[in-house]
Amino acid sequence: MEKWLEGRVMEKRLWSDNLYSLRLRAPVDPFTAGQFTRLALEIDGERVARPYSFVNPPQDDLLEIYFNKVESGPLSPRLAALEPGDRVWVSARPNGFFTLDQLPDCENLWMIASGTALGVYLSILRTEHPWQRFNRIVLVHNVRKGDQLSYSEEITTLKRQYDERFRYIPITSREQVDGALHGRVLATLEDGRLEKHAGVLLTTEQSHVMLCGNMGMIREVSQALEVRGMRKHRKKEAGHYTIEKYH
Ligand SMILES: Cc1cc2nc3c(=O)[nH]c(=O)nc-3n(C[C@H](O)[C@H](O)[C@H](O)COP(=O)(O)OP(=O)(O)OC[C@H]3O[C@@H](n4cnc5c(N)ncnc54)[C@H](O)[C@@H]3O)c2cc1C
Repeated sequence: MEKWLEGRVMEKRLWSDNLYSLRLRAPVDPFTAGQFTRLALEIDGERVARPYSFVNPPQDDLLEIYFNKVESGPLSPRLAALEPGDRVWVSARPNGFFTLDQLPDCENLWMIASGTALGVYLSILRTEHPWQRFNRIVLVHNVRKGDQLSYSEEITTLKRQYDERFRYIPITSREQVDGALHGRVLATLEDGRLEKHAGVLLTTEQSHVMLCGNMGMIREVSQALEVRGMRKHRKKEAGHYTIEKYH
């Protein structure tokens, strides 16, 4: 049975319309960067729970989640309404296999996120492990509009720390934004802009690709990777890409 802890909201941030981060205090079990917890609230006498990836690296005191308010959803609007001091149920046991220990060794790691899936990569990137294992890391963040490109401070710190080993590529699909590619990840992959801006080739020999976010992005990018001869990574058969679907 799931063990629930009473967590407390310590900080709240509204990034832009419908995009939020919460920092929580809850004594969850140790986790590996890339894993998720489950948050729950009592709604009409029922405990409604949903998974959320940790944004914070495991060594931080506070837990952080990054999410968007889905107007039609039962939980996310209520999470968005929480304020510092409020309580939320947090699952004691972290979960998930979207972690570096599940990946094969290779030269370059690509981390491709749509929307709030950026968070899971920020957890991983703020540990030493990816930097010990991979030569170059490319973080790709696909959003609709420029004001959805959150966490710029954390990304700037990573750039400063890892210099040319780290490339961040923002992509906006609904508006042109200075410094960002325009379109969807798939288009930028197919027309060569993604690799050009990364300064790294996405090849079967050198690369592993992590894909996280909405199913549409994951499906179309996976198909494009398959065309390049890349295969989904499985425990029993090493491949070239790994996925985690949020919705
Ligand atoms: C392993 C895992 C990790 C996740 N981590 C995160 C995370 O870190 N941040 C995050 O924002 N979400 C994350 N999600 C999605 C999250 O669990 C919820 O589904 C989401 O917050 C909506 O909750 P809800 O109860 O309001 O609506 P739900 O009943 O869960 O969903 C209502 C509808 O909204 C769609 N939907 C779900 N999530 C989104 C979304 N983010 N954007 C647009 N539509 C959506 C669903 O497909 C469904 O059609 C994760 C999901 C999984 C499986």
